[in-house]
Amino acid sequence: MAKQLAEYIWFNGKIVPWKEATVHVMTHAIHYGSSVFEGIRAYNTPDKGTCVFRLNEHNRRLFDSAKIYRMTIPYSLEEINQATVDIIRENNLKSAYIRPIAFYGDIGMGLQVPFGTETEVTIAAFEWGAYLGEEALKNGVDAGISSWNRLAANTMPTGAKAGGNYLSSQLISMEARRHGYGEGIALDRNGFISEGAGENIFIIRNGVVSTTPKTAAILPGITRDTVITLLKEMGYEIREENIAREAMYLADEVFMCGTAAEVTPVRSVDGIQVGSGSRGPITKQVQDMFFGLFNGSTPDKWNWLTPVYK
Ligand code: PMP
Repeated sequence: MAKQLAEYIWFNGKIVPWKEATVHVMTHAIHYGSSVFEGIRAYNTPDKGTCVFRLNEHNRRLFDSAKIYRMTIPYSLEEINQATVDIIRENNLKSAYIRPIAFYGDIGMGLQVPFGTETEVTIAAFEWGAYLGEEALKNGVDAGISSWNRLAANTMPTGAKAGGNYLSSQLISMEARRHGYGEGIALDRNGFISEGAGENIFIIRNGVVSTTPKTAAILPGITRDTVITLLKEMGYEIREENIAREAMYLADEVFMCGTAAEVTPVRSVDGIQVGSGSRGPITKQVQDMFFGLFNGSTPDKWNWLTPVYK
């Protein structure tokens, strides 16, 4: 039994007690990694109470991931959006990490899934603090470049947030922890920076901000898109371009971002200090503007917040 993190889970259209949201050991997704999922956060804001951040974009990506794998999710995007809000409310959560997942269940052991086979869908919501730790948000993480590359183009699509892809992320983060780093960063098959185990990467030098392009074996993060939007708002130039490993060593600032990791400074890469070795000024500005969306200091002019409790 998975550790109980909340009271209820949304499971195939019904809200059920945590303990009852179970599947059989012969579940297709367990054997073959045939699932697609999302990670979403909800924050407790002063004006609108608990709000889901970029709800529609996340669940839209869930459907995009399913489309790549020709999976049929037997619900509409609107229904999944509603269910996401409902499960936060049912659990009476103020802030939450939300995990929608669509997967092939008890459909037999054939690899070849008959076209049109419907997935099962579940949405869990529970409380979850800073993924890389509160300390890291302030002082930064020590990151190491992984000996594992991200998936090569046309092997497995990194643009899909699919269960199976996370074996790659696990190798990268396990190796990083074993070497004493807070997080691992992988190169793509061309040797350019790709992304962290669960985060996109930004580097800054002389006030110019760069991030790795969508063709560098990344999952194009919604936080990445948020950060690009906020930086443009602040008047910075952003380049989406290939980044060489040594550019991280020579950067004034490096930070990583993702739904779980939020915006986390990187203070060293491969044991080489980045800039001053602490959170840089532009990283701090991005963090302030990002967290400002949830504490009320950044106006939500993009309509990114969906209130949970009306
Ligand atoms: N890359 C990978 C491999 C991830 O798992 C994540 C987290 N979902 C990200 C990037 C960041 O994506 P997002 O900002 O949409 O959470």
